[in-house]
Parts: sequence; structure tokens; C-alpha cells
Amino acid sequence: MKILSNLGIVVGVGALLISCNDKNLTEVQVPLPEDVATSVQMGNPSDVIANEGTFKMIPLPYSYGALEPHIDARTMEIHFSKHHLGYTNKLNAAVAGTPLAKLTIEEILTSLDLENKTLRNNAGGYYNHNLFWASMSSKGGGEPSGALSAAIIKHFGSYNDFKNQLTETANKQFGSGWAWLVIDKTGKLSVVGTANQDNPLMPNIGVSGTPILALDVWEHAYYLQYQNKRNNYVEAFFKVINWNAVAKRYDDALAKEIPNTIQ
Ligand code: MN
Repeated sequence: MKILSNLGIVVGVGALLISCNDKNLTEVQVPLPEDVATSVQMGNPSDVIANEGTFKMIPLPYSYGALEPHIDARTMEIHFSKHHLGYTNKLNAAVAGTPLAKLTIEEILTSLDLENKTLRNNAGGYYNHNLFWASMSSKGGGEPSGALSAAIIKHFGSYNDFKNQLTETANKQFGSGWAWLVIDKTGKLSVVGTANQDNPLMPNIGVSGTPILALDVWEHAYYLQYQNKRNNYVEAFFKVINWNAVAKRYDDALAKEIPNTIQ
């Protein structure tokens, strides 16, 4: 940081005093305070523990800073250790002492009563974020390969057509929500959007399918780094998509959901 200081004139705390006598002005280097010049201390994702209950914090498979420069470490830290922890704790509180505590998160979502807003928001928040973290990798980006690539070309026309659909769905989602790549029971891929923490597994929300890729478009997912420019965040997301993980979910969903035509 460069400031002008008059030799012999005090540079005040919190205020810069400059003499009116320009002849005496000298440019000096003022070092930044150490805590500003160095990066902010980050916690460790594996140190984030949920309150006792059915659902645990699944550790991030990478550090908070692993997705930089596309998604910044501070956003990841707050998103995981504050927002996601909050959903997990509230979900545990909502199911504690009820038959729901013995169900999987998928069973809770597929049998959800939409009028149960606490469960809807927090079961959705828990599942959605876990899939979101798993949808990204520091070694991500590029394009899918193999059977998933062929399916994307079959159902969207090309990878770029798919990318355009996901981008448009993410950018046009009004307010908070999610954009998804889902597979239906016939193996068809499609892109859908949901509001708030809704999820395509929930009954009667207007879209359906098994999610294999999740994109969080809540402002808390990008605002520190991208402010109002959601489109820039969405573009950055494509650079960290973990296509290997998406392909694994695609294969698993196919194996589980497509009826055996021989029977
Ligand atoms: Mn989020």
C-alpha cells in the first residue's frame, strides 16, 4: 500500500494527515498488517461434527480451498461448516424420536409430506448439499466420457446443448434453488430446477427423477466471490464438475431403476 506522508508530520491512527506544503511530500511504503496480508485461517472440513442423531456430516472429499480459483475457500468453509451443518442438525432434531429416524434420507424424501416444512427444508438441504459436494472435484471439469457422454448426446443433442440447458435453468431460477441433472425410470436424462431446498425425489413438486448432478444457486453458494453475477459462478461450476462421480451415479441409477425387460 502506498500513501503520501509528510516527513516529520504524524500519520495518525485511522486518519492520514498530509501537510499542505507539497514540497515536503515523500512517498513511503507502509506494510499491510500481517493479519490482512496473510490468508484467513481455515478450519478443517473433517472437524465439523453434527449434533448426535441419525444423520452425520459426511466429510468433504477435499479441502475448503481445493476448488479455487473457481469457488473460493471462504465460501466453501461457511457453506459447509455453517449452512450445511445447520441443515444436518435441524434434520436430526426433526426426526428424533419418530419412525423417520430409522429411514434413509432417500426414503424420507420420497415419502415426504410437503406440508411438513421443517422436514422438507432440512431433509432437502441435507441431501442436496451432500450431492453438491460430491458433484465437484479439484480435478473436475472437462466433459464426461463413456456411457454418460453417449446418454447426454442422445438426450440433449450434444454436451454443449446440455451445458446450455443447465446454465439457463440455473440462471433463471428466481430466488434460491437448485439446478439438476436427473435420470428417470426409463433411463432418460433431463435438466430440471427446484426452488428453496426442494429435490426431484420429493413427490408432487412438479419435477421428478433421480438426481445425478446438483448445482446450488442459493446466493450463499457464490455471493462472497461473485456477488450478483450468478452466471459467472455457474460458468465456474462447469470447471469443477466431478464427471467420474456423476458417471458412477448414472450407472448406479440405471442398474437400480430400469426395469429388466426380460421379466
Ligand atoms: Mn447451499
